[in-house]
Amino acid sequence: MLGKEDGEQPVESPNHPHVAESHRTLSRDQHAISRKEISENALKVLYRLNKGGYDAYLVGGGVRDLLLGRRPKDFDIATNATPEQIKALFSNCRLIGRRFRLAHIVFGRDVIEVATFRGHHHQVNTSKHVSAQSDEGMLLRDNVYGTIEEDAERRDFTVNALYYSVKDFTLHDFEGGLDDLAERKLELIGDPETRYREDPVRMLRAVRFAAKLEMTISPRTAAPISLLAPLLQDIPPARLFEETLKLFLAGDGLATYTLLREYGLFQQLFPQVAAHFTPHGSSPYEQFIEQALIDTDRRVFEEKRVNPAFLYATLLWGCVEARGRELENESGLPWYDAFMLAINEVLDSQVRIIAVPRRFTTDVRDIWALQQRLTRRQGRHPERAMEHPKFRAAYDFLLLRNRVERGLGELASWWERYVTSHPEVRPQLQREATRRPASSERPGEARSNDGEKRSSNRRRPRRRKPKVAE
Ligand code: ATP
Ligand code: MG
Repeated sequence: MLGKEDGEQPVESPNHPHVAESHRTLSRDQHAISRKEISENALKVLYRLNKGGYDAYLVGGGVRDLLLGRRPKDFDIATNATPEQIKALFSNCRLIGRRFRLAHIVFGRDVIEVATFRGHHHQVNTSKHVSAQSDEGMLLRDNVYGTIEEDAERRDFTVNALYYSVKDFTLHDFEGGLDDLAERKLELIGDPETRYREDPVRMLRAVRFAAKLEMTISPRTAAPISLLAPLLQDIPPARLFEETLKLFLAGDGLATYTLLREYGLFQQLFPQVAAHFTPHGSSPYEQFIEQALIDTDRRVFEEKRVNPAFLYATLLWGCVEARGRELENESGLPWYDAFMLAINEVLDSQVRIIAVPRRFTTDVRDIWALQQRLTRRQGRHPERAMEHPKFRAAYDFLLLRNRVERGLGELASWWERYVTSHPEVRPQLQREATRRPASSERPGEARSNDGEKRSSNRRRPRRRKPKVAE
């Protein structure tokens, strides 16, 4: 029986009505993929599976990106060997996933993902371990195994359903992916609404690929997205965190963000941020987010490290500022307390949707709390701020704010001078700063351009240790 876990044979073709009539096979000289472009580890896995008597193909982004002349992010493999059979072949194999069982073949830091051909759920008498669906049509388990043709049908986009074999160097197209690739068109396989309901993350993937590959989402694939966007609320927050890293930190963050907004998907992921959106998308907060994403994309391009904490700090910054002001006005709390309370509220509310791990939220808090600390330039404050492990991030954050927020120029350039100057010169800089009143002691203050200085004079020196900054 299909999906049985021990003593089983490679999966045979069951009689499924969808016999891939459109199956196109391209021989070695009809396509541009060469083994030289495939990672050594992926090749090892493919050869070993073939040698073990199984079919094995490179599939998904690996094939798609090579055909587009891009360097693939990773190499995914599909095979008719079951997870247990794969495990028996590789000592460096880990089986992972419940919703979607996979084998990971581990080569140090490089992991090759091997998936057994997926089949159709309605064909077999499925048990709950193998397949399960929610009332909304969402697939909770997807472990029915099948043939390569069925596997192709179960994939998301036609361009992701191309298979390359190292046995005979053939390229297989079951869903019209080659034509769509030529037209640079993202086409969901099957009925879009059903496929989004099965897995709403496919909506995020549509946007991500469109941005990254500069492809257009076909009208039928795009049509249901706005309506179905709320289904993202049913996705486990931990999975959404992983997805947001791919959306914003993979080098096409700005383009992805723009499309996510257009399709109403961003609003589902970050409702607090979306509450501040303006019709033309040109508020300082929106400019700030765009600027942050431009910088992030540039860093990725330059192969520099990008930090999820910095990303989340920028995305949610306007919410924290606004909520801080609200709390200050409503409750009469001193600014600093209101600001700290706002940090907690905004983060608590966000992590219910996207499970940002604590190690990152701790850094987000530090970056924000340091914005406040950086306004204090007397005594040992600057020196101590510089010793904080998140100083560099907080300083970069201040400079980024300065590009959009008004009234930060003096503070930002002072810090630039302070950071770059010799320690002996620093006291002089401090004396200068204290002679002149600080330009903006409160985040966002300078933005209230009604000409009136709001109750910022309530600022008072704070002796207590900040709750979260250290
Ligand atoms: P990249 O790795 O560049 O982000 P990819 O297309 O390889 O893009 P992966 O997440 O690595 O994406 O997935 C590998 C392949 O698995 C996809 O190309 C697709 O065929 C299939 N796949 C992944 N996620 C889904 C999904 N949610 N629904 C259907 N098929 C999927
Ligand atoms: Mg991939």
